Amino acid sequence: MSVLSRPEFHNEEAAYAYVEARIWPTGAICPHCGGVERIGKMGGKSTRIGAYKCYQCRKPFTVKVGTIFESSHVKMNIWLQAIYLLCASKKGVSSNQLHRTLGVTLKTAWFMSHRIREAMRSDGTVQFGSGGGIVEVDETFIGHKHKKAEGARGYAHKSAMLSLVDRTTGQSKSFVIKDVTKATLIPILHANIAKEATVYTDEARQYTSIGKHFADHDFTTHSKGEYGRGVVHTNTIEGYFSIFKRGMKGVYQHCNKKHLHATLLNLSSVTTTVSRMVQMT
Ligand SMILES: [Zn+2]
Repeated sequence: MSVLSRPEFHNEEAAYAYVEARIWPTGAICPHCGGVERIGKMGGKSTRIGAYKCYQCRKPFTVKVGTIFESSHVKMNIWLQAIYLLCASKKGVSSNQLHRTLGVTLKTAWFMSHRIREAMRSDGTVQFGSGGGIVEVDETFIGHKHKKAEGARGYAHKSAMLSLVDRTTGQSKSFVIKDVTKATLIPILHANIAKEATVYTDEARQYTSIGKHFADHDFTTHSKGEYGRGVVHTNTIEGYFSIFKRGMKGVYQHCNKKHLHATLLNLSSVTTTVSRMVQMT
């Protein structure tokens, strides 16, 4: 069968099913509150395709929220056609070509190709700090991994998250990690940061030897009240953490590990959406 005859390219419902299966491999997740349990698919003739309602926060949503498809009226199957064309063509496809091939306006074609290219560019294949840029690295603890045991102290009951920010591009990447040991952190840094990068962290012991893996490593000593020394700081990433946590606080009573993954996926689902589709084509 021709690839182009696949139902997701021709039928809007099939297209939604295709995208949902990739963004929500384990079932629908409410983008507003992270809920996974009390979610209903909306039915009826007047309901929009792909509409769900979360009975935890009482808000409606579709799989488009938080992805490149958000606030676009273009039919999902046409989006998939556009992604296919852009991914399948080695020489690239101009907005003009997209406009003529898909039968959308030039303005819409421009908007679509812009979003798709944006997502493809940040598909994770380019390491942070490529070309000798600065990368900030920090970890934080969020929510409740499980209920805090009686008398428990510290962070044992929380989920750990490692984040990287490329100061040149402003892109960030986050990972839910099982602990903050060197054995967990170092392989992630290796895989995601270019050798020629300059890496800034705080004084945490796990980072003391990373200078040998990268062009340069420096750190600030938070325990001595030092938060910045010229360009040496992790303030960008701390700002990112505080926005992320504030965003979660408004809607999350608890943030268990499963939900945290969902949220991170959502924040980066522009990337996820397209990189998964690239694999398909
Ligand atoms: Zn909800």
